[in-house]
Amino acid sequence: MTHFPQIVLSSRNQKKIGEIAELFAPYGVELIGVSQFPDVPEVEEDGDSFAANAAKKATEVAKKLNQWVIAEDSGLCVDALGGAPGIYSARYAGAQGADGANNEKLLQDLAAIPPEKRTAHYVCYAVLSDPTGQVRLSSEGRCGGLILSEFRGEQGFGYDPLFLVPEYHHTFGQLSPAVKRHISHRAKAFERLIPQIIRLFEKS
Ligand code: IMP
Repeated sequence: MTHFPQIVLSSRNQKKIGEIAELFAPYGVELIGVSQFPDVPEVEEDGDSFAANAAKKATEVAKKLNQWVIAEDSGLCVDALGGAPGIYSARYAGAQGADGANNEKLLQDLAAIPPEKRTAHYVCYAVLSDPTGQVRLSSEGRCGGLILSEFRGEQGFGYDPLFLVPEYHHTFGQLSPAVKRHISHRAKAFERLIPQIIRLFEKS
């Protein structure tokens, strides 16, 4: 049986942590949230890509704790807005993590765009850093959809009530966590990362 070292998850977003923990649960891998370590400061997300921000969040915390760390950076890219909000998704309206204000700004910015042109995709870039701060594994997942002009559903977080998954005729705000766990950008990124993590620890 594979022996997994303690793995820290470099996120303070409880909804994200919940989704990621559920993705690891079937493999018997338990993640510890970075909030369990009060001495670890917030990592400034000043990279110019999802990959750079994910790497920074993982490697800075890994070096500080001398532990294996997983981080992800994710966001929404809207075609009619040239890929915005993208890496600025969490603070699109200004304040960090203000989901309500971010959604209202998105609706305003897309007000003149007809339904068929409101295409978008979520991106998730996930990274594993070793305790020395070297990125050892990474993967990306995407999920395509359309931005609605009204809110539907209360599940999920962030832009989920506006994000329609056409194949399911529902938004991520309406779909159950179990469905999101199968089809989301985060699910796809970790679906690829987890088997690589298992192989890495099997070898060591
Ligand atoms: P991060 O914590 O810097 O990676 O920012 C992620 C931001 O992207 C969140 O605050 C949301 O605005 C958006 N986002 C990422 N993934 C999701 C998702 O699964 N649902 C809804 N919004 C998401």
